[in-house]
Amino acid sequence: MQFNSLGLSQALLKAISKKGYTTPSPIQQKSIPHILQGKDVLASAQTGTGKTAGFTLPLLHILSENPKEKYRPIRALILTPTRELAAQVYANVREYSEFLNIKSAVIFGGVNQNPQVATMRQGIDVLVATPGRLLDLINQNHISLKRVEILVLDEADRMLDMGFLRDIERIIKLMPEKRQNLMFSATFSADIKKLAHGILNHPVQVEATPENTTVDAISQKVYRVAKGLKTDLIIKLILDGNWKQVLVFTRTKHGANKLCEKMAKAGIKAAAIHGNKSQGARTKALGGFKNGSVSVLVATDIAARGLDIPLLPHVINFELPNIAEDYVHRIGRTGRAGASGEALSLVSADETTYLRDIEKLVGIKIPVEIVEGFEPDPNASTEPEKRQQRGGGNRSRNNERSAKSNTQKNDSSRRPKRNNDRKRNDRRN
Ligand code: AMP
Repeated sequence: MQFNSLGLSQALLKAISKKGYTTPSPIQQKSIPHILQGKDVLASAQTGTGKTAGFTLPLLHILSENPKEKYRPIRALILTPTRELAAQVYANVREYSEFLNIKSAVIFGGVNQNPQVATMRQGIDVLVATPGRLLDLINQNHISLKRVEILVLDEADRMLDMGFLRDIERIIKLMPEKRQNLMFSATFSADIKKLAHGILNHPVQVEATPENTTVDAISQKVYRVAKGLKTDLIIKLILDGNWKQVLVFTRTKHGANKLCEKMAKAGIKAAAIHGNKSQGARTKALGGFKNGSVSVLVATDIAARGLDIPLLPHVINFELPNIAEDYVHRIGRTGRAGASGEALSLVSADETTYLRDIEKLVGIKIPVEIVEGFEPDPNASTEPEKRQQRGGGNRSRNNERSAKSNTQKNDSSRRPKRNNDRKRNDRRN
């Protein structure tokens, strides 16, 4: 299938060709025709599948077909969970709308709101936003959603994970009831299905990859290793392999910092990206990673969400996530656009349960390797660390969440109530 058979305008085809895309990705082939027909769509697609163009191209087509007004009300709203994803989606909107008379803007917390307000004043057609800052600016009467025709919820699963459910509900109440709704999510929990049911109107369901399965192009491997040897092992793997672009996941921001320091001592150019870093530091780290001056980006789950790093050859889980779906998100960073990728996990005895959960979810047994000199500790307990230390509780998520609540104040401080899950977690902290 070619892009020109999808029914997109010449101006959009020109922008697509400028980007160098030759054929639409599976999620684009499946979603674009339905969206152009004005239908609500529920799409299962993770980052790396081309989902952003999957909703942005038809959205721009629809908006540019209808007559424009001199005063530009916001006609399309794209909600994303993180600042990074918002910035990336906005960059895509800009590129795809280059040959259209469409104005777009992005707003997110953690930065001064004044430039954002000034842009909004000029009138824009497409707004990309994180929920907290959007509500802030609505409350200050800088933004009205009364004319929104198309709503996109991008990475809806992560928005729920981050406690944005209430915000989303509030935002939806401020929009006209008659509108087109598009929801994209990498995973489909019961909560996501409930949210979809409440928002979407007879949606068409499309899938890029089967639900909760990992992409074939990614080769997965587990290194069984003693906990205390993980840092040395990861340094060895990166140096021996001479890997120049590696994304490493840790469970906590503190862990990310510590690992970065150790890597720097070993001569590896590493940078950390997590919720406690300023927006400037995050942008700089990501920029360095993209231009090659940083070879290893160490990230926590929430911070890494939405990073657009094409053709990433290696993803390493320094620690396994305790939520199996996060594993799918993490390794979705590699093997993009047909390129092969490698997803490695360093697994100590206390992560045995997490590994079992992950294998159940992805439906395969991940091959195990042991490196000489980095053997697992046969006497270590296989009880998850959280249980050993706290007698239960969602420890890693809490750490990441508390990091976010510290740093995304601007984005979320006006959130009056959080969902129950979030409240429970906060109390535990
Ligand atoms: P996304 O899943 O939207 O984050 O997109 C992942 C990457 O694929 C981005 O770098 C896009 O620019 C790129 N991309 C999107 N659509 C296509 C396409 N049809 N052909 C090649 N690359 C694409």
